[in-house]
Amino acid sequence: MLDQSGVRPSKIVSVLATQVGGIGNLNVTDHDVCNYLSTKRHKELEKGDAQLMLQYFQKRQSENPGFFYAIQVDIEGRLANCFWADAKSRSLYKHFGDVVTFDPTYLTNKYKMPFVPLTGVNHHYQSILFGGALLWDETEESFVWLLQTWLEAMLGCPPKTVITDQDTAITNAVARVLPHSTHHFCMWHIEKKFPETLSHIYHQNNDFKYHFSKCIHDTITPEEFEMAWTELIEKYKLQNNTWIQKVYSIRERWVPAFVRASFCAGMSTTQRSESMNKFFKDYLNSSTAMSKFVTQYDRAIEARYDKEKEKNFKTKNTKPILKTLYPMEVEAAKVYTRKIFRMFQDELLESQKYVSEKITMKDGVYKYRVHECQKEFPSYIVILNIVEQKVECSCHKFEFVGILCKHALMVFIKKQIHSLPMHYLLDRWTMSAICGRDEGDFSEKLHQAEPLRNSSMWFNDIMVRSLGISEKASRSAKHHRVALQGLQALSDKLDDLPYENEQDSSLSISQVDSHSEIHDPTQGQTSQKSITLFNPVTVASKGRPRTLRMKGGLEKSRKINKCSCCKEKGHNRSTCPKVKN
Ligand SMILES: [Zn+2]
Ligand SMILES: [Zn+2]
Repeated sequence: MLDQSGVRPSKIVSVLATQVGGIGNLNVTDHDVCNYLSTKRHKELEKGDAQLMLQYFQKRQSENPGFFYAIQVDIEGRLANCFWADAKSRSLYKHFGDVVTFDPTYLTNKYKMPFVPLTGVNHHYQSILFGGALLWDETEESFVWLLQTWLEAMLGCPPKTVITDQDTAITNAVARVLPHSTHHFCMWHIEKKFPETLSHIYHQNNDFKYHFSKCIHDTITPEEFEMAWTELIEKYKLQNNTWIQKVYSIRERWVPAFVRASFCAGMSTTQRSESMNKFFKDYLNSSTAMSKFVTQYDRAIEARYDKEKEKNFKTKNTKPILKTLYPMEVEAAKVYTRKIFRMFQDELLESQKYVSEKITMKDGVYKYRVHECQKEFPSYIVILNIVEQKVECSCHKFEFVGILCKHALMVFIKKQIHSLPMHYLLDRWTMSAICGRDEGDFSEKLHQAEPLRNSSMWFNDIMVRSLGISEKASRSAKHHRVALQGLQALSDKLDDLPYENEQDSSLSISQVDSHSEIHDPTQGQTSQKSITLFNPVTVASKGRPRTLRMKGGLEKSRKINKCSCCKEKGHNRSTCPKVKN
C-alpha cells in the first residue's frame, strides 16, 4: 500500500488517524461514508507525484538547511497535509511575524486540496509569505496540524494577531494552537453576508445600507458603536434575529471600533491573503501537479523577493520630496521606508486641516477634542502627556497601524513638539527592520515562548539565526573574512564542550524516531487491519498524528563532529591524542 502511493517509506511519518475518529464521532450515515471514500480516491496522488515533491523538498533542504518541510500521510499512506517554508520566509518572520493572515484557496484542483499561504506584511507594506501548505481538507484537525507545524517552523514564536475568515474549524484551531494571539475575523466577509442574510430588510428599506455602514465604519469608540448598533436594531426591529445576535456576539473580533485597539499592521480584512491567492493563480493552474506546484511556488516567491529588493534599493538611493517644514518630517524620511514615510507624510499634511479644543488639563496631561476645521463631527479625543511625550487618540491609528494619526500630530505641533518621540517610530516600519535586531526583540520573544526542547528545534533555531550572519558576511570580502574567523572560533569552542551534552540530543533523536511507528511493516499492517471507519476507539488510543521534520538536516549536523585540533572525527579537542602529545 505504501509503495503504491509513491511515498518513500522513510518519510512516511505520521498517520492522520484523527480524521477517522472525527467521522465516527459525527455519527455519519452510509451515504456520507461513500462520499468520503470517493473523495479520498479522487485525491489519490498521481503516481510518483508525491515522491517528486519530496525529492524537491529534500533538494531544497540540502541546498539550504534553513528550508523547512513537514508531511503528514493518511491512514492508507497517501499524502494528506504538507507544509513548507523557505529559509528567507523564516528569517523574515523574525522581523514581521507580529501579524499573520491566512485564507484557504483552491488552486490545485487536480487533487482538490486547499492551498493555504500564510501571509504577513513587511516594512515596505508589501505582502510577504511565512510558508505555504497543501491541506487534505478544512477540518479543525488539519488546521491544528498546520498551525502547530507552522509555529515550529517559525521557532515557536506566536504572532500577536491572526486574521482569518469567520470559520468554526479555523477559529477552534487558532484557539488551541495560538491561545495568546488576538484572533480577528475578516470584516469584509462578515459585512458581505448582511445583504444576503437580511435581504428582506434591504428590500424594504433603502436607507438600511447607509445606516448600517455608518454604524460599522463611522463609529470610533466601542461606546459609540454600541449606541449606533442599538439604534439600528431597534429601528429595523432586528432584536430577535439570531444571525444578528451572532455577529453582535463576536463584534470585538471584527468591528473597527474594537479591533483597532490591537496591532494589525493596518489590516482589518483577509484582503492581503486573498491578493496573495490571486498572485499564485498567475503561476499555477488547476491541472498543476503537486510537485510542479511547489516548484512554481518557489519561482513565485523569488519574484516577490525581487520586488522587496527593488523597494530597498529605492529607499536607500533616492530622496523623498518633503512637503512641510517640520523637523519630524525630515526625521521620518530618514528612518521610515518610502511607503511608510508617504503614509506618515499624508497624516502630517492632513493634520493641518484639524483644530482642537482643550477639555481638561491636569498635571501636564492635556485632553483635547480634535475635529476638522468646519466640521464638528466626527471628533476625536486626544490625550497628551507633555513630559513623557506620550499621546493617545480615540481613533487608535497608532495601536492599529503603528503610525501616528493626524489628530495626535496636530496636538504635538500645537504643543511645540516638533521632533518625533522615539517610541513612536516602530522598528518594523523602518529600513533597519531587517538588520541588527537579532538580539533584541526576537530573543525576548523567544524567552516568552516555550523553551526549545529538542535537537531538531536547536538546529532550526541556529539555522535561522545564522541566515542573518550570511547576509551580513556577503557585503564585502572583508565582512566575509571576519565572519569566517568568528565562525572558526565559535566552532572550536563548541568542539571543546564536554561530550555529556550529546546525550540530550541522542535521546531526542530516538524519541523522534519512535514517532515513525509506521516504518515497521508489521505495525503498518496491524493498523490497517484494525482501523475501520466505524472503529475510532482503537485509532484514538494511538494519539494525535505526529510528524518528523528536518531529519535530513539533523543527521547531517551529527556527522560534523570533527576535532578542532587535528580535524579528525570521533573525538574532540580535550580528548585529542595530538594535544596530549
Ligand atoms: Zn487619531
Ligand atoms: Zn584531534
